[in-house]
Amino acid sequence: MPTVAIEVVNHRTAETMRRGYMLPVRIGRGATCDIQLDPENRAISRLHVEIGEEDGKPVLINRALNQNATHYRGRSLKASERVPLETGDSFRIFDFELKVLEPAQLMVLAVDRADLRPRGEFPLVPGGALLAYGDGHRLAIEQVANLARIDATRLADKLALIFYYDESEPTFAVLSNPERLQVYLDRGFVQQDALYLQPLDTIELGDHRFEVHPVGQPAIVCENPTCQVLNEYDRGDNCRLCGTRLFGATRIVRGKT
Ligand SMILES: [Zn+2]
Repeated sequence: MPTVAIEVVNHRTAETMRRGYMLPVRIGRGATCDIQLDPENRAISRLHVEIGEEDGKPVLINRALNQNATHYRGRSLKASERVPLETGDSFRIFDFELKVLEPAQLMVLAVDRADLRPRGEFPLVPGGALLAYGDGHRLAIEQVANLARIDATRLADKLALIFYYDESEPTFAVLSNPERLQVYLDRGFVQQDALYLQPLDTIELGDHRFEVHPVGQPAIVCENPTCQVLNEYDRGDNCRLCGTRLFGATRIVRGKT
């Protein structure tokens, strides 16, 4: 599934946000947008631009109807104009500068352990984070576009863990008291506060499982109905988590082959 990593700089507030997204990405002042720009600025359309996909690559589609509202490579885009977006490209919408970053290398898949239903795929980029918190059976998962915005006091008495980049190292950390929250990494009990992540790591806690998956690499899903964890497509004959033999008559593959 194609992803894009975006940095948003608000030149009025000097705030910077970074996050990975699954395509398509909707950007505008509307509350339902994936990236909501200043809702008070009526010159920004509710849906101002969209980042879509063409041949697996991101394209910027201008949805703004007013002139001079979206600037890209030194000119303003026409209504409905489509332009390719490469890494390093930026475009401007009033106070906001949006830049395409290096694509995410890792994706975190959240899976419900009870029925093994996926709860979402979250591309992880430096500067952004994936936060999971809750109590008991309920777990909220939210992507954070600015690490400094995380309110640690709000999470102090909750069960929480976070996936983020520590400098250039993908990391996950348990924010709660480890006696309250038992976290397992590849079936081993995690005692450290923070651990570097490796592709295809599996983190389990209570009714929840998180799988760390390299973006753009094919993976095979374990056929054991109670496991169904992702495995590397061309490495090993047995599931790395439960030991079930892979490559049976049926193959479920996630990602491109
Ligand atoms: Zn398995």
